[in-house]
Amino acid sequence: MRLVDIRQATVPISRYADASISSGNLDTTIVAIITDAYRAGEPIVGFGFSSIGRYGQSGLIRDRFAPRLLAAPAEDLCAADGNIDPFRAWQCMMLGEKPGGHGERCVAVGTLDMALWDLAAKVAEEPLYQFLGKVIGIEQTSQQVPVYAGGGYYFPDDDIGRLTTEVRQFLDQGHTHIKMKIGAVPLEDDLKRIEAILDLLPDGSHLAVDAMNRYSPEMAIRAAQALQPYKLWWFEDICDPLDFTTHERVAAEYSPPIAAGEALFSAADATNLIRYAGLRRNHDIFVFDPVHCYGVPEYLQIAEMLEDNGWSRQSCWPHGGHLFSLHLAAALKLGGNECNPHNFQPFGGFADGAEISEGFATLPDVPGVGFATRPQLMNLFSALLT
Ligand code: MG
Repeated sequence: MRLVDIRQATVPISRYADASISSGNLDTTIVAIITDAYRAGEPIVGFGFSSIGRYGQSGLIRDRFAPRLLAAPAEDLCAADGNIDPFRAWQCMMLGEKPGGHGERCVAVGTLDMALWDLAAKVAEEPLYQFLGKVIGIEQTSQQVPVYAGGGYYFPDDDIGRLTTEVRQFLDQGHTHIKMKIGAVPLEDDLKRIEAILDLLPDGSHLAVDAMNRYSPEMAIRAAQALQPYKLWWFEDICDPLDFTTHERVAAEYSPPIAAGEALFSAADATNLIRYAGLRRNHDIFVFDPVHCYGVPEYLQIAEMLEDNGWSRQSCWPHGGHLFSLHLAAALKLGGNECNPHNFQPFGGFADGAEISEGFATLPDVPGVGFATRPQLMNLFSALLT
């Protein structure tokens, strides 16, 4: 099998279900990897995107990583059975790249990596989680993954009214755990938002808060002290992601779990996090985004590094809230996965019509990532092929 073409486009996405609310001109890059293999008269194509929350990566994909894949001989990209081998393809993309200086090249590589896995699982005619499980030697026994609903952004008007409406919708959908944003308004206002949501939940153990890395060292401690009595599920993205000293200070005096790693993009960064941030083994949570971390090969290195240091994979709840990370959570038997039911459409959330049952999501039973279960997303991808 040969890769014939790699096409890409950068498209706008929104943090809000109502995309007219300003979202900082956020965008993501979609890619299509087209092969010379055909099924039912159509070329087999792998699709991917740059996850959510960072910006698109068109330049690096166009100028650096896609040309390396297209220039590689088929034998350098394929396994013995002739299918694409995403690990070999990843080595090809990274040829000549120097250690360190991850910047956001890792997002560009992770975008293409998603499409390579979608492609390989489609060729194998298996859902990605089953295909990936076989490749890495983990037997798949469950099609269900614990998930939580991510959302709770600030609304420009009637914030608490719209926030509680959103959370009621999450609960009606079958979610049992919710994550909301904090850190963008005075602490006392955030506490009012938290208490409004807690009124809808059994207790604090069903609510995580995400400060989006906004707190200064001083504010991080003040916020931790204020949040401590709520006994929340976790306190995420507390301060600058590289400020391990502040993480350590918070962990020393904040008893409930804290979550970190969303804005760290490599196994080396993840190693420093567990070495120096004072995180507590099998108590705190890692939210590394597999797509932002150079894709599956680097994410596997992170998972293995954590286990080598005495952490459980159950500590990992990947960022992203979409189908690709759901497959990884299932295949690697991680703690669970984020779900973005309303935000970052049409990328957020899982198969259209698939129900969340008591906080568990079911994986789609179609080959690849299962983008075919998302017609609006497929419209975007299909436009790359015309
Ligand atoms: Mg976060």
